[in-house]
Amino acid sequence: MRKIILAMLAILMLTVAGCGGEKKVDDGKLKIVTSFYPMYLHTINIVGEIDGVEVVNLTKPQTGCLHDYQLTTEDMKTLETADIFIVNGAGMENFLDKVIESQKNLKIVDASKSDEIFLIKDGEEINPHVWMSVTYAMAQVREIQRQLCELDPAHAEIYKQNTLNYMNTLSDLRDEMHLALDNLPNKDIVTFHEAFPYFATEFKLNIAGVIEREPGTEPTPQELTDTIKIVNELPVKVLFTEPQYSPKAAETIARETGAKIFTLDPITTGESKIENKNDYLNKMRQNMNTLLEALQ
Ligand SMILES: [Zn+2]
Repeated sequence: MRKIILAMLAILMLTVAGCGGEKKVDDGKLKIVTSFYPMYLHTINIVGEIDGVEVVNLTKPQTGCLHDYQLTTEDMKTLETADIFIVNGAGMENFLDKVIESQKNLKIVDASKSDEIFLIKDGEEINPHVWMSVTYAMAQVREIQRQLCELDPAHAEIYKQNTLNYMNTLSDLRDEMHLALDNLPNKDIVTFHEAFPYFATEFKLNIAGVIEREPGTEPTPQELTDTIKIVNELPVKVLFTEPQYSPKAAETIARETGAKIFTLDPITTGESKIENKNDYLNKMRQNMNTLLEALQ
């Protein structure tokens, strides 16, 4: 009996502590939360390592794109202790309204708010995969920096300097990719989900087909037939899957058409740690090399 009472007391105390912890305590520290991996990578390069500024990524390393993502209780707790929430915007974070509604003091930084970004529409819907254009990734970095400097003027000089350095490496990457990809003999690609329109626009690739229109949902038999027809008409039969999704449908199409399968990475998964801060650059170069191999 005594044990039970003690256990109940412990639970009660935990609950009370939990409630206290949910309130944002002003500890003099700045907590920046990013919505998913590409925003984490942008932000960690802008912020670097500053005492008293913490950058945390909200979603787990394997989450990938946030289409249909449901916020967990743990996510809500993370946001309750945050000062700034950095999002991709353009509709990627479909839970954003809910966050704005429930976290009145949280400052939201929308990376796609930049005047330099022209959003692409798929039918009625805005395509949110803005960071896949290197030029637009640079615009997002500039936009995050601008808004961060306003929200945290104390560290503005550091943010500006870090951004300058990062923008130089992004600009080099962009030059290197244009040099490699602009004159490819073949420009037709079939991709896995709708992650590549911005990328394709930047490098003048033509997305001839998309295997899985709804990520995580297998294509219907009709959609498969349509894609097989498209692939059969391509001069170079190549399919690009993504490491985040099952290649099952692509394998079916490859069997029917003799197409070769390659992997393009939309850079949405990875461990959120400072050591990975060059992951955008590294994975974009990997994508460049894959395209060179596939389309030469
Ligand atoms: Zn996506």
